[in-house]
Amino acid sequence: MSARVLVVDDIITNVKLLETKLSAEYFDVVTAMNGPDAIDVCERGLCDLVLLDVMMPDMDGFEVCRRLKNSPATAHLPVVMVTALDQPSDRLRGLDAGADDFLTKPVDDVALFARVRSLVRLKAVTDELRARLMGSRTYGLGDPLAAATAETGQNGRVLLVDDRPSSYERLSAALSQYHRVEVETNPHHATIRAAESDFDVVLVSLDLQDFDGLRLCGQLRSLERTRHAAVVLIADMGEKARVLRGLDIGAHDFLVRPVDRNELVARVRTQVRRKRFAERLRDSVQFSMDAAVTDGLTGLHNRRYLDVHLATLFDEAVRRGSEFAVLLLDIDRFKLINDTFGHDVGDEVLREFATRIRTLTRNVDLVARYGGEEIVVVVPEASLEEARVVAERIRERVDAKLFKGGGSGRELSVTVSIGVAARQGLDISSAEIMKRADLALYKAKESGRNRVIAAAA
Ligand code: GH3
Ligand code: MG
Ligand code: MG
Repeated sequence: MSARVLVVDDIITNVKLLETKLSAEYFDVVTAMNGPDAIDVCERGLCDLVLLDVMMPDMDGFEVCRRLKNSPATAHLPVVMVTALDQPSDRLRGLDAGADDFLTKPVDDVALFARVRSLVRLKAVTDELRARLMGSRTYGLGDPLAAATAETGQNGRVLLVDDRPSSYERLSAALSQYHRVEVETNPHHATIRAAESDFDVVLVSLDLQDFDGLRLCGQLRSLERTRHAAVVLIADMGEKARVLRGLDIGAHDFLVRPVDRNELVARVRTQVRRKRFAERLRDSVQFSMDAAVTDGLTGLHNRRYLDVHLATLFDEAVRRGSEFAVLLLDIDRFKLINDTFGHDVGDEVLREFATRIRTLTRNVDLVARYGGEEIVVVVPEASLEEARVVAERIRERVDAKLFKGGGSGRELSVTVSIGVAARQGLDISSAEIMKRADLALYKAKESGRNRVIAAAA
């Protein structure tokens, strides 16, 4: 995961120190020593994340952050404020300015990398989502930028696994302002509880009595039902080794006791946002997969889908020794409809044709647009004769009722010719069945159209 990190600090030794640490972990580093330069780097799209010192002359870190978050060109960049350890009020001001997270000076390595990685992950999913949504804009998924930036990371579902009342009461009170928080005091029940409902974030205390929180972390990250939830560890000071181990196992972030309220809120918000973006990303991948196998005009499966599934159905039928049949349908004199009434009316006829076929077939039948005005229906478990009956019913229903013909105002007579073929013992691929269906269709056209011909067995 290579990312470009912008380090902003007015003191050169601070810049160099962070640069060295980040470079050693294979991050690319860009630097700026004042606010205006930092904004310039961000506006030119030269970084993925900003580590921003608070104390700088002229324009301080809060002001830089505010400007970045208020400009559409830079608002999506994660900003980590680097504050002085003894200035908790700085964190509140940072949150007000729109900062995504905090680090305290002197900057601890584990904290630095955990924060940077966690925000780089967030940015990676938002960028990917944005790119995908851009690509599918025409499908009516709305404005991708608006969707991405509207995600506040609030109102998440948070499970807090902690068995010390003094601790969970305080943490839960702080988070409840923004999220729905549930507390689980028995770590043995935590995994099941997390699997039963869809939590965005699971906070796991590392000082549970008689239970290793890291084990819970490992379970949560490996179970299918819980692995999309973000896991945030809560560790005691001086437990660096266990925190590192937890991050290795797959924890998304950590907090150190005594937990700073603002840090808690900022970190949980980041994780809720990442989880939701990742969810939307998965949905949109599913959506574009659907789009890739669907014919835009008729809503039927497309040729690509047919080719793949016909081959699979064929193999399956051979293995089980079962029958299956194919109908190849072609609208009669369709060119004439286009030429007489226009292409739009032709499209409308095609849509209605597809709809009629869908209502005359079963869910298990595969209906796909094969080419221009040709449609294929695959009927599993059907003999040639059974398929011929299905085809005859379709032919009859197309002929029996006039088509609307869209905006043309008049109703059109449409007929269809159908070739039928079924699997035979010697067939070695579905292509042979298709070839017989095509030949039968040709005969149907030749012998006068508006008829069904079944290929001789
Ligand atoms: P036949 O009875 O022999 O099948 O005659 P036909 O006119 O239907 O056959 P032909 O294959 O010559 O013409 C098919 C026409 O279908 C030609 C093409 O312009 C038209 N066509 C193909 N795809 C579409 C489409 O998506 N929309 C419209 N409106 N027309 C299409
Ligand atoms: Mg044709
Ligand atoms: Mg035709």
